Amino acid sequence: MPLLVMKFGGTSVADLARIENAAKKVQAEVERGYDVIVIVSAMSGETNKMVGFVEGTSKLYDAREYDAVVSSGENVTAGLMALRLQEMGVAARSWQGWQVPINTTSAHSSARFISIPRENIDAKFAEGFKVAVVAGFQGVSAEGRVTTLGRGGSDTTAVAFAAAFGAERCDIYTDVDGVYTTDPRITNKARKLEKIAFEEMLELASLGAKVLQTRSVELAMRYKVRLRVLSSFEDTDENSGTLVCDEDEIMESKVVSGVAYSRDEAKVTLVRVEDRPGIAAAIFGPLAEAGVNVDMIVQNISEVEVGSVKGATTDMTFSCPTNQVARAQKAMEDAVAAGTITYDGIVVDSDVAKISVVGIGMRSHAGVAATMFKALSKENVNIKVIATSEIKISVLIDRKYMELAVQALHDAFELEKV
Ligand code: ADP
Ligand code: ASP
Ligand code: MG
Repeated sequence: MPLLVMKFGGTSVADLARIENAAKKVQAEVERGYDVIVIVSAMSGETNKMVGFVEGTSKLYDAREYDAVVSSGENVTAGLMALRLQEMGVAARSWQGWQVPINTTSAHSSARFISIPRENIDAKFAEGFKVAVVAGFQGVSAEGRVTTLGRGGSDTTAVAFAAAFGAERCDIYTDVDGVYTTDPRITNKARKLEKIAFEEMLELASLGAKVLQTRSVELAMRYKVRLRVLSSFEDTDENSGTLVCDEDEIMESKVVSGVAYSRDEAKVTLVRVEDRPGIAAAIFGPLAEAGVNVDMIVQNISEVEVGSVKGATTDMTFSCPTNQVARAQKAMEDAVAAGTITYDGIVVDSDVAKISVVGIGMRSHAGVAATMFKALSKENVNIKVIATSEIKISVLIDRKYMELAVQALHDAFELEKV
């Protein structure tokens, strides 16, 4: 029997009426002759609410208990979706992560898949069940504890099931009708893409476009999963939405294909650290151990004998998510107390955002950076940090200019035009 994976995000299962709407889409595929694995998110807002409960209870919380709490929203929607399908006469059964079992690492709140054995679900299909409704975002560790995959992780659950079960396609149903040149909430000039290359989608996702979790794109690329993003609120067919696919399947390719932003960034500067071999390791080692996801790093050229530190010094700046600043500061203070680093001061700017332009065409075209910087300067937006790679350029700017910068770059690269 051919098999499809259909994933419904939080807004698509936000209440009973929307669960029913999603269930009808599942029923339609069953009637077309598919066995279906449905992956569900928690009802929208539920995961945030539970994160709030955890943070309101314990500041430096035990990640095992965080996962125990925040994974629960998906259990509710999985059960409700199975019930709704049964009411519609479709043989469906719900599955929590441990029941499949979805085996993951023990890295709580950012666990990775180890294996998804097919036997239990296959046995249910063999009994005549048509739909397996699986709770997204969660798994189980070797210790038998519930894990979660990081925010937005149900996308990754969906792709992993598509790979494990050899699905014909993995359809990600959400509240937009595809992947756009930028977040359509920021500018109405954003244009829907028919297709996007895995590599571009990977960059856009990792730079903040939350329409797909980064890891889901990585997995789809590795296991050659046909991945599609489409709307759960519209009538759809096999040509709807945006297909994420190999580069060679795409005819049209612009130099820049999308603009991404990430709102909750912070910039941390260690003022006048010693400039000596090993200093970067002495700073970023403890940050990594503290679980801080350092993104951009800038080390200034060396100043000699300024302030209290003797010998050559330098400023070291890095960016990380705003909610990790407290951990970062504590890791640095501990390193000072342990005598492994010294600095004159630590300056935190928690009001920055990262804006990035992405495109595989950048590999073979010069001048993208110049166009980007010119567009930002025209709007008087000051650039604080710059980072580049083969197919992207990112800048940190004041958060209050974020929307303006996205719109200016969208215009500058003429992304509304095909
Ligand atoms: P779900 O709850 O279905 O997982 P998400 O909120 O995680 O949905 O992702 C969908 C949202 O992603 C859209 O509502 C949109 O605002 C945002 N988004 C950001 N960048 C893009 C983009 N380039 N194309 C489409 N949507 C985007
Ligand atoms: N419910 C989880 C979250 O909000 C996972 C997901 O929706 O993908 O992050
Ligand atoms: Mg999502």
